[in-house]
Amino acid sequence: MFASGIKNISLLGSTGSIGTNALEVVRMYPGRFHIHGLAAGRNISLLHKQIEAFNPQIVSIADENLAGDLIQSLPAGWGDKIVTGPDGIIRVATLPAADTVVCAVVGAAGLEPTVAAINEGKDIALANKETLVMAGELVMEAVRKNKVNLLPVDSEHNAIFQALAAGRAQDVKKIILTASGGPFLSRSERDLWDVTQEQALNHPKWEMGKKITIDSATLMNKGLEVIEARWLFDVDVEKIDVLIHPQSIVHSMVEFVDGSVVAQMGIPDMRIPITYALSYPERIKTGLPPLDLTKCGELTFSHPDYAKFPSLRLACQVCKRGGILPAALNAANEVAVAAFLDNRIRFPEIAYVAAETVSRTPEKEATDLSTVMGEDLAARIQAESIVEALVMRSGQMLGKKVGTPSLPPESDSFLNN
Ligand code: MG
Repeated sequence: MFASGIKNISLLGSTGSIGTNALEVVRMYPGRFHIHGLAAGRNISLLHKQIEAFNPQIVSIADENLAGDLIQSLPAGWGDKIVTGPDGIIRVATLPAADTVVCAVVGAAGLEPTVAAINEGKDIALANKETLVMAGELVMEAVRKNKVNLLPVDSEHNAIFQALAAGRAQDVKKIILTASGGPFLSRSERDLWDVTQEQALNHPKWEMGKKITIDSATLMNKGLEVIEARWLFDVDVEKIDVLIHPQSIVHSMVEFVDGSVVAQMGIPDMRIPITYALSYPERIKTGLPPLDLTKCGELTFSHPDYAKFPSLRLACQVCKRGGILPAALNAANEVAVAAFLDNRIRFPEIAYVAAETVSRTPEKEATDLSTVMGEDLAARIQAESIVEALVMRSGQMLGKKVGTPSLPPESDSFLNN
């Protein structure tokens, strides 16, 4: 699969943070990487520029209403090359000319195209963690069956992948995922009720899209990464630890049975893991400044505060219970984050919506993709009704003098287990 010569790429999620970084990497190596397909959501002005720069064979735009505007802005003849909707992205993911698919779509929308690409024998550079959160067992089964390579782009998993090369799988004692801790590491639990959108979107170390930035602030991102690691590296959740490391220099570690801990370090820039995932097993220059350990200051590590960040604990519990619960958790979290970004719910209520949705989800095996997608939809409806109830409740409290708000009592059921 890693024949020398050019790597032919379809890029899903081209206008997002990972997508634009991936295109910068491709631009640096025109003789090595070639873009054949692009898929984006709704940013047609950036997509237009990418089409001009990379001249792909086919382009998908998720929002069909925007396809007309995009076609009009392009030279004649482009009409046939623009595809739309869920089928459009799958066409880009399964493009015969591509041997590698970079999946950088945000959220649950990444699952079906990624699986379609795997089933067509494409190698995958995976940035969309939700794919493995929702259907890790099914996806990894498809990877084995189709004998494709799945390279993690997520910086922590990319680090673990690199560290694992230092020993045998059976000699791994523990995987240690590092977390920056997000912007609210030193805020009190009580003060999290006053968090504004602007504060939650101001990540101290990483420049990312809105959804993942909010996930980083709640630590749900780390919880989803625990589930991602569980499937990607086939380890039990008990063997996965999380450490808060605010400097984001050590991107994750593997502890072996002999006491050796192998860490991957680097400056916090996504172009490093993206480049590695695309050039593997080779290493190529990124043009980025080197890591200067003498200028990083102190590197610190501590345990996460699971009481202050219940999303992380919830995700670990859900990972252990498995089945369709991780898909429900992911869907509920997407709904809750969107509701927070719409100013409908407050910051601590994001975890509440996720926990409540999970506690109302009957456990069931994730037997196939349609079961998982069905659960995704059911959990979205459930989560939306929980959001509605919270909106109603806060409306009733308007004008009344209240102290620090608290979550409804039923939140104890899952969050405190
Ligand atoms: Mg990450």
